Amino acid sequence: MTGTLYIVATPIGNLEDITFRAVRILREADLIAAEDTRHSRKLLSHFGISKPLTSYFDHNKTLKGRYILDQLESGLSVALITDAGTPCISDPGYQLVRDAVAAGFAVVPVPGPSAAITALSASGLPTDAFVFEGFLPNRQGKRREKLASIKGEQRVVIFYESPNRLLAALTDLQEVLGERELVVARELTKVYEEFIRGNCSTVIDTLQHRTIKGEVVILVAPAAEGAAHKDVASVADLLALLMEDEGLSLKDAVKQVVLQTGLPRGEVYTEALKLKERD
Ligand code: SAM
Repeated sequence: MTGTLYIVATPIGNLEDITFRAVRILREADLIAAEDTRHSRKLLSHFGISKPLTSYFDHNKTLKGRYILDQLESGLSVALITDAGTPCISDPGYQLVRDAVAAGFAVVPVPGPSAAITALSASGLPTDAFVFEGFLPNRQGKRREKLASIKGEQRVVIFYESPNRLLAALTDLQEVLGERELVVARELTKVYEEFIRGNCSTVIDTLQHRTIKGEVVILVAPAAEGAAHKDVASVADLLALLMEDEGLSLKDAVKQVVLQTGLPRGEVYTEALKLKERD
Protein backbone atom coordinates (compact mmCIF):
# COMPACT_ATOMS: atom_id res chain seq x y z
CA MET A 1 0.00 0.00 0.00
CA THR A 2 1.59 3.30 -1.07
CA GLY A 3 0.96 6.73 0.39
CA THR A 4 -0.74 9.79 -1.03
CA LEU A 5 0.76 13.19 -1.71
CA TYR A 6 -1.65 16.01 -0.77
CA ILE A 7 -1.07 19.48 -2.24
CA VAL A 8 -2.63 21.68 0.42
CA ALA A 9 -3.42 25.38 -0.08
CA THR A 10 -3.04 27.60 3.00
CA PRO A 11 -4.17 31.21 3.61
CA ILE A 12 -2.50 34.17 1.86
CA GLY A 13 -3.05 36.38 4.90
CA ASN A 14 -6.31 35.81 6.71
CA LEU A 15 -6.13 32.59 8.70
CA GLU A 16 -9.90 32.12 8.43
CA ASP A 17 -9.34 31.28 4.77
CA ILE A 18 -8.05 27.79 5.48
CA THR A 19 -10.59 25.10 4.58
CA PHE A 20 -12.02 22.48 6.97
CA ARG A 21 -10.61 19.86 4.64
CA ALA A 22 -7.13 21.39 4.65
CA VAL A 23 -7.09 21.31 8.46
CA ARG A 24 -8.27 17.70 8.51
CA ILE A 25 -5.73 16.57 5.92
CA LEU A 26 -2.90 18.34 7.78
CA ARG A 27 -4.04 16.66 11.01
CA GLU A 28 -4.18 13.24 9.39
CA ALA A 29 -1.00 13.39 7.30
CA ASP A 30 1.98 11.38 8.52
CA LEU A 31 4.40 14.04 7.38
CA ILE A 32 4.06 17.70 6.39
CA ALA A 33 6.56 19.06 3.88
CA ALA A 34 6.81 22.85 4.17
CA GLU A 35 8.69 25.51 2.24
CA ASP A 36 9.80 27.13 5.50
CA THR A 37 9.24 24.93 8.53
CA ARG A 38 9.57 27.80 11.04
CA HIS A 39 6.95 29.84 9.20
CA SER A 40 4.56 26.91 8.84
CA ARG A 41 4.94 25.81 12.44
CA LYS A 42 3.12 29.03 13.44
CA LEU A 43 0.22 28.27 11.11
CA LEU A 44 0.03 24.67 12.27
CA SER A 45 0.14 25.54 15.96
CA HIS A 46 -2.67 28.08 15.38
CA PHE A 47 -4.83 25.13 14.30
CA GLY A 48 -3.50 22.84 17.03
CA ILE A 49 -1.69 20.61 14.52
CA SER A 50 1.43 18.89 15.70
CA LYS A 51 2.98 16.64 13.05
CA PRO A 52 6.46 15.76 11.88
CA LEU A 53 7.65 18.52 9.55
CA THR A 54 10.30 18.43 6.87
CA SER A 55 11.48 21.22 4.61
CA TYR A 56 10.97 21.24 0.87
CA PHE A 57 12.16 24.31 -1.01
CA ASP A 58 13.87 25.20 -4.28
CA HIS A 59 17.44 24.54 -3.12
CA ASN A 60 16.87 21.18 -1.47
CA LYS A 61 14.16 19.87 -3.79
CA THR A 62 16.24 17.11 -5.37
CA LEU A 63 17.36 15.59 -2.10
CA LYS A 64 14.10 16.20 -0.25
CA GLY A 65 12.04 15.12 -3.22
CA ARG A 66 13.74 11.72 -3.07
CA TYR A 67 13.12 11.52 0.69
CA ILE A 68 9.43 12.38 0.28
CA LEU A 69 9.00 9.80 -2.50
CA ASP A 70 10.57 7.21 -0.16
CA GLN A 71 8.03 8.11 2.54
CA LEU A 72 5.20 7.68 0.01
CA GLU A 73 6.69 4.36 -1.07
CA SER A 74 6.62 3.13 2.52
CA GLY A 75 2.89 3.91 2.71
CA LEU A 76 2.97 7.27 4.53
CA SER A 77 0.80 10.17 3.47
CA VAL A 78 2.57 13.50 2.92
CA ALA A 79 0.99 16.96 2.82
CA LEU A 80 2.89 19.65 0.92
CA ILE A 81 2.36 23.26 1.98
CA THR A 82 4.15 26.52 1.18
CA ASP A 83 4.44 29.83 3.04
CA ALA A 84 1.13 31.07 1.62
CA GLY A 85 -1.45 30.10 -0.95
CA THR A 86 -1.39 27.19 -3.33
CA PRO A 87 1.81 25.14 -3.61
CA CYS A 88 3.33 25.00 -7.13
CA ILE A 89 1.88 28.42 -8.08
CA SER A 90 5.08 30.53 -8.15
CA ASP A 91 6.08 28.30 -5.25
CA PRO A 92 7.94 25.01 -4.86
CA GLY A 93 6.17 21.74 -5.61
CA TYR A 94 5.99 21.27 -9.36
CA GLN A 95 8.94 18.87 -9.56
CA LEU A 96 7.69 16.82 -6.62
CA VAL A 97 4.21 16.50 -8.14
CA ARG A 98 5.73 15.52 -11.47
CA ASP A 99 7.97 12.89 -9.89
CA ALA A 100 5.15 11.55 -7.71
CA VAL A 101 2.86 11.24 -10.72
CA ALA A 102 5.61 9.52 -12.73
CA ALA A 103 6.22 7.08 -9.87
CA GLY A 104 2.51 6.21 -9.79
CA PHE A 105 1.58 7.77 -6.43
CA ALA A 106 -1.82 9.38 -5.93
CA VAL A 107 -1.53 13.18 -5.92
CA VAL A 108 -4.56 14.88 -4.37
CA PRO A 109 -5.11 18.64 -4.48
CA VAL A 110 -6.71 20.31 -1.47
CA PRO A 111 -7.74 23.65 -2.97
CA GLY A 112 -7.80 27.02 -1.28
CA PRO A 113 -6.55 30.57 -1.79
CA SER A 114 -4.19 31.74 -4.46
CA ALA A 115 -3.29 35.43 -4.75
CA ALA A 116 -3.74 35.50 -8.54
CA ILE A 117 -7.34 34.25 -8.49
CA THR A 118 -8.20 36.21 -5.34
CA ALA A 119 -7.01 39.42 -7.03
CA LEU A 120 -8.76 38.66 -10.31
CA SER A 121 -12.08 37.88 -8.66
CA ALA A 122 -12.44 41.39 -7.20
CA SER A 123 -10.43 43.32 -9.80
CA GLY A 124 -13.39 44.35 -11.93
CA LEU A 125 -11.45 43.25 -15.03
CA PRO A 126 -12.91 40.65 -17.43
CA THR A 127 -12.66 37.20 -15.87
CA ASP A 128 -13.67 35.02 -18.82
CA ALA A 129 -10.09 34.50 -19.99
CA PHE A 130 -6.81 35.39 -18.33
CA VAL A 131 -3.10 34.61 -18.38
CA PHE A 132 -0.96 34.08 -15.30
CA GLU A 133 2.66 35.09 -15.89
CA GLY A 134 4.09 34.64 -12.37
CA PHE A 135 6.82 37.10 -11.36
CA LEU A 136 8.03 39.74 -13.79
CA PRO A 137 11.78 39.52 -14.47
CA ASN A 138 13.91 41.62 -12.05
CA ARG A 139 16.10 43.13 -14.74
CA GLN A 140 14.66 46.02 -16.69
CA GLY A 141 15.66 44.73 -20.14
CA LYS A 142 14.06 41.34 -19.61
CA ARG A 143 11.06 42.93 -17.91
CA ARG A 144 10.45 45.18 -20.89
CA GLU A 145 10.81 42.24 -23.27
CA LYS A 146 8.22 40.32 -21.27
CA LEU A 147 5.88 43.31 -21.27
CA ALA A 148 6.33 43.82 -25.01
CA SER A 149 5.40 40.18 -25.53
CA ILE A 150 1.96 40.78 -23.94
CA LYS A 151 1.27 44.05 -25.76
CA GLY A 152 -1.44 42.57 -27.98
CA GLU A 153 -2.78 40.10 -25.38
CA GLN A 154 -6.57 39.96 -25.53
CA ARG A 155 -6.88 38.40 -22.08
CA VAL A 156 -6.22 39.87 -18.64
CA VAL A 157 -2.57 39.31 -17.67
CA ILE A 158 -1.71 38.67 -14.03
CA PHE A 159 1.77 39.26 -12.58
CA TYR A 160 3.23 38.80 -9.11
CA GLU A 161 5.64 41.55 -8.10
CA SER A 162 7.63 42.54 -5.05
CA PRO A 163 6.62 45.85 -3.41
CA ASN A 164 10.05 47.42 -3.91
CA ARG A 165 10.01 46.80 -7.67
CA LEU A 166 6.35 47.78 -8.14
CA LEU A 167 6.90 51.36 -9.30
CA ALA A 168 9.69 50.40 -11.70
CA ALA A 169 7.46 47.68 -13.13
CA LEU A 170 4.51 50.07 -13.55
CA THR A 171 6.72 52.66 -15.22
CA ASP A 172 7.99 50.06 -17.70
CA LEU A 173 4.45 48.87 -18.20
CA GLN A 174 3.33 52.38 -19.12
CA GLU A 175 6.26 52.93 -21.48
CA VAL A 176 5.90 49.60 -23.26
CA LEU A 177 2.10 49.17 -23.31
CA GLY A 178 0.96 52.81 -23.23
CA GLU A 179 -1.98 54.01 -21.14
CA ARG A 180 -3.45 50.61 -20.34
CA GLU A 181 -6.10 50.04 -17.64
CA LEU A 182 -4.71 48.09 -14.72
CA VAL A 183 -5.32 47.03 -11.14
CA VAL A 184 -2.82 46.65 -8.33
CA ALA A 185 -4.14 44.37 -5.58
CA ARG A 186 -2.20 44.78 -2.34
CA GLU A 187 -2.26 42.86 0.95
CA LEU A 188 -5.16 40.66 -0.10
CA THR A 189 -7.26 39.25 2.75
CA LYS A 190 -5.22 41.27 5.28
CA VAL A 191 -6.06 44.35 7.37
CA TYR A 192 -4.69 46.82 4.81
CA GLU A 193 -6.14 45.12 1.74
CA GLU A 194 -6.35 47.60 -1.12
CA PHE A 195 -7.27 47.65 -4.81
CA ILE A 196 -5.80 50.51 -6.85
CA ARG A 197 -7.61 50.76 -10.15
CA GLY A 198 -7.12 53.08 -13.10
CA ASN A 199 -4.87 53.63 -16.09
CA CYS A 200 -1.08 53.48 -15.69
CA SER A 201 -0.75 57.22 -14.91
CA THR A 202 -3.38 57.28 -12.20
CA VAL A 203 -2.07 54.12 -10.54
CA ILE A 204 1.51 55.45 -10.65
CA ASP A 205 0.33 58.83 -9.27
CA THR A 206 -1.42 57.09 -6.40
CA LEU A 207 1.63 55.04 -5.50
CA GLN A 208 4.66 57.14 -6.24
CA HIS A 209 4.81 59.17 -3.04
CA ARG A 210 4.07 56.24 -0.80
CA THR A 211 6.28 53.63 0.78
CA ILE A 212 4.81 50.52 -0.77
CA LYS A 213 4.62 47.70 1.70
CA GLY A 214 3.22 44.21 1.69
CA GLU A 215 2.46 41.87 -1.16
CA VAL A 216 1.13 42.88 -4.54
CA VAL A 217 -0.45 41.47 -7.66
CA ILE A 218 -0.60 43.45 -10.91
CA LEU A 219 -3.47 42.81 -13.32
CA VAL A 220 -3.30 44.28 -16.81
CA ALA A 221 -6.51 44.80 -18.81
CA PRO A 222 -6.74 43.22 -22.26
CA ALA A 223 -5.38 45.16 -25.21
CA ALA A 224 -7.97 46.90 -27.32
CA GLU A 225 -8.86 44.58 -30.17
CA GLY A 226 -6.18 44.68 -32.89
CA ALA A 227 -3.75 46.68 -30.73
CA ALA A 228 -0.85 44.44 -31.60
CA HIS A 229 -1.52 44.77 -35.26
CA LYS A 230 -2.41 48.39 -35.65
CA ASP A 231 1.23 49.32 -36.23
CA VAL A 232 1.76 46.76 -38.97
CA ALA A 233 1.63 49.37 -41.74
CA SER A 234 4.39 51.33 -40.06
CA VAL A 235 6.67 48.40 -39.20
CA ALA A 236 8.51 48.65 -42.51
CA ASP A 237 9.04 52.40 -41.95
CA LEU A 238 10.29 51.80 -38.43
CA LEU A 239 12.67 49.08 -39.59
CA ALA A 240 13.93 51.26 -42.44
CA LEU A 241 14.54 54.10 -40.01
CA LEU A 242 16.47 51.91 -37.61
CA MET A 243 18.52 50.03 -40.22
CA GLU A 244 19.08 52.73 -42.83
CA ASP A 245 19.15 55.98 -40.88
CA GLU A 246 20.42 54.74 -37.53
CA GLY A 247 22.63 51.97 -38.93
CA LEU A 248 21.33 49.18 -36.66
CA SER A 249 21.92 45.60 -37.74
CA LEU A 250 18.90 43.62 -38.94
CA LYS A 251 18.93 41.63 -35.70
CA ASP A 252 19.05 44.71 -33.45
CA ALA A 253 16.41 46.54 -35.50
CA VAL A 254 14.07 43.56 -35.24
CA LYS A 255 14.64 43.42 -31.48
CA GLN A 256 13.83 47.13 -31.11
CA VAL A 257 10.67 46.89 -33.20
CA VAL A 258 9.43 43.84 -31.31
CA LEU A 259 9.98 45.73 -28.08
CA GLN A 260 8.19 48.84 -29.29
CA THR A 261 5.25 47.21 -31.04
CA GLY A 262 4.72 43.92 -29.25
CA LEU A 263 4.39 42.24 -32.65
CA PRO A 264 5.56 38.62 -32.99
CA ARG A 265 9.29 38.42 -33.71
CA GLY A 266 8.75 36.20 -36.78
CA GLU A 267 6.46 38.77 -38.35
CA VAL A 268 8.93 41.63 -37.82
CA TYR A 269 11.83 39.49 -39.03
CA THR A 270 10.01 38.65 -42.31
CA GLU A 271 9.37 42.35 -42.82
CA ALA A 272 13.05 43.14 -42.20
CA LEU A 273 14.16 40.48 -44.68
CA LYS A 274 11.86 41.95 -47.33
CA LEU A 275 13.43 45.36 -46.76
CA LYS A 276 16.94 43.93 -47.05
CA GLU A 277 16.09 42.10 -50.28
CA ARG A 278 14.50 45.24 -51.71
CA ASP A 279 17.72 47.18 -51.09
N1 SAM B 1 1.62 30.24 -4.03
C1 SAM B 1 1.16 31.59 -3.81
C2 SAM B 1 -0.25 31.73 -4.38
O1 SAM B 1 -0.90 30.71 -4.60
O2 SAM B 1 -0.71 32.85 -4.58
C3 SAM B 1 2.11 32.61 -4.39
C4 SAM B 1 3.48 32.56 -3.81
S1 SAM B 1 4.56 33.74 -4.49
C5 SAM B 1 6.09 33.18 -3.81
C6 SAM B 1 4.29 35.15 -3.53
C7 SAM B 1 3.65 36.29 -4.34
O3 SAM B 1 2.25 36.10 -4.40
C8 SAM B 1 3.83 37.66 -3.70
O4 SAM B 1 5.06 38.24 -4.03
C9 SAM B 1 2.66 38.43 -4.27
O5 SAM B 1 2.93 38.87 -5.58
C10 SAM B 1 1.58 37.34 -4.30
N2 SAM B 1 0.83 37.35 -3.04
C11 SAM B 1 0.84 36.39 -2.08
N3 SAM B 1 0.03 36.74 -1.07
C12 SAM B 1 -0.52 37.93 -1.40
C13 SAM B 1 -1.44 38.82 -0.76
N4 SAM B 1 -1.95 38.54 0.44
N5 SAM B 1 -1.78 39.96 -1.39
C14 SAM B 1 -1.25 40.26 -2.60
N6 SAM B 1 -0.37 39.47 -3.24
C15 SAM B 1 -0.01 38.32 -2.65
